[in-house]
Amino acid sequence: PASPPPPHVAMLVTPGMGHLIPLAELAKRLASRHGATATLITFASTASATQRAFLSSLPPAVSSLSLPPVDLSDLPRGAAIETLMSEECARSVPALTDILLGLKRTTGRLAAFVADLFGADSFDAARDAGVDRRYLFFPTNLHVLTLILHLPELDTSVPGEFRDLAEPLRLPGCVPIPGPDVLMPLQDKTNPCYKWMVHHGSKYREADAILVNSFDAVEPGPAKILRQPAPGRPVVYPIGPLIQADTGGSKNDAACLEWLDRQPDRSVIFVSFGSGGALPTEQMRELALGLELSGQRFLWVVRSPSDEGAVNDNYYDAESKKDPFAYLPEGFVERTKEVGLVVPSWAPQIKVLAHRATGGFLTHCGWNSVLESLVHGVPMVAWPLYAEQRQNAVMLSAEGVGAAIRVPESKGREKIAAAVRELMEGEGSGAAVRAKVAELQKAAAEGLQEGGAAAAALAEVVEKWTGGEN
Ligand code: UDP
Repeated sequence: PASPPPPHVAMLVTPGMGHLIPLAELAKRLASRHGATATLITFASTASATQRAFLSSLPPAVSSLSLPPVDLSDLPRGAAIETLMSEECARSVPALTDILLGLKRTTGRLAAFVADLFGADSFDAARDAGVDRRYLFFPTNLHVLTLILHLPELDTSVPGEFRDLAEPLRLPGCVPIPGPDVLMPLQDKTNPCYKWMVHHGSKYREADAILVNSFDAVEPGPAKILRQPAPGRPVVYPIGPLIQADTGGSKNDAACLEWLDRQPDRSVIFVSFGSGGALPTEQMRELALGLELSGQRFLWVVRSPSDEGAVNDNYYDAESKKDPFAYLPEGFVERTKEVGLVVPSWAPQIKVLAHRATGGFLTHCGWNSVLESLVHGVPMVAWPLYAEQRQNAVMLSAEGVGAAIRVPESKGREKIAAAVRELMEGEGSGAAVRAKVAELQKAAAEGLQEGGAAAAALAEVVEKWTGGEN
């Protein structure tokens, strides 16, 4: 019989490069391995230059379009990012329905609709447009997914705040998470973003399946449980690690890479807090002095401190708001110029992690950064800031898989220096972390190969899209 036509997939991307990048990678993989085409649907609030450049660099099989702007001016100033994204999505349902109806007409065969973690309300639009297969793409990990899926119950069983829990939160298969490390948007139940997260937890159940950007070896406990079908919960497919192939050119690229070229193998610790993270002034100072004290070579992406604005002030736009160099300790750049390079705002992270001179990564534990580090076999020092990063730090450090050393909460320069030194050349926990990361790098690569677990999971999903099943 004639093989069915290749599927077209519509994908809704909630704001943030951390959502766009892996979803675009998924679209590219569906195109290159399975002959699919895809349309990425973005929100008007994220029409930044960075995003436009990224979208225009995608292959022809992956097109994009933007939803019209929605009015969010009634939301209180300082509303959480999770609230803004959820509201923007909920208010875009009518426009999205029209877009999906249009795509059905123009593509002839809209095989599936995929929404990401804050976009589950868009399932209503897909239903209204008569798109039968509705999938969730979860760009973070199985630990976070387990938590969100349990939120509707936890909302009743945990009456107070998570941070006040006497015992760590224990969920099926998961590393126990101490209360204060639980997902940031759940830490204040009076904040509307808490209610939004509980809502998403029940909305996720409407998905036919959930595709997760993670892999078994990095979180074997929840992988084992979520891979089994369970009544009342969508099937879960770990399809990662999907990371971006490369970060296009930026003005710091050449400076970083030429500097790395001059450093010995595995001698440099890369220090970066993601696309939006920044530290409070005092911690930024301790970090500088800690790096200096460690005696290790470093490449540090600096942003102006967070107490000069919100902690994730840069979320919609990665440019540092002020001159970050002004906040470094007096004489720091001069004193460390033989061993360190400090760049403002942005570095070509993938190229840096792939460079032979890079031997460690001090990271905020954003999930994309973690996956990129593991894919390139770079062990981590965990310094989480917001979102799910504290939880990620727990599952990555000794309590969990052991791929990172966490900086103690006090964040003093000596403790920072000790963690960095141990990671780079220590014979105790440092050596164990380095060995574990090498193992995870291998497991990640094997999963993505033809026949590997991640490749097989994605093939199974595509089979459903093309085979007429849900
Ligand atoms: N990134 C980069 N250069 C930087 C900072 C970040 O290329 O200086 C990229 C990084 O490679 C990753 C993404 O931006 O792909 C950050 O995503 P992550 O989930 O780690 O953190 P978030 O930005 O969502 O907090």
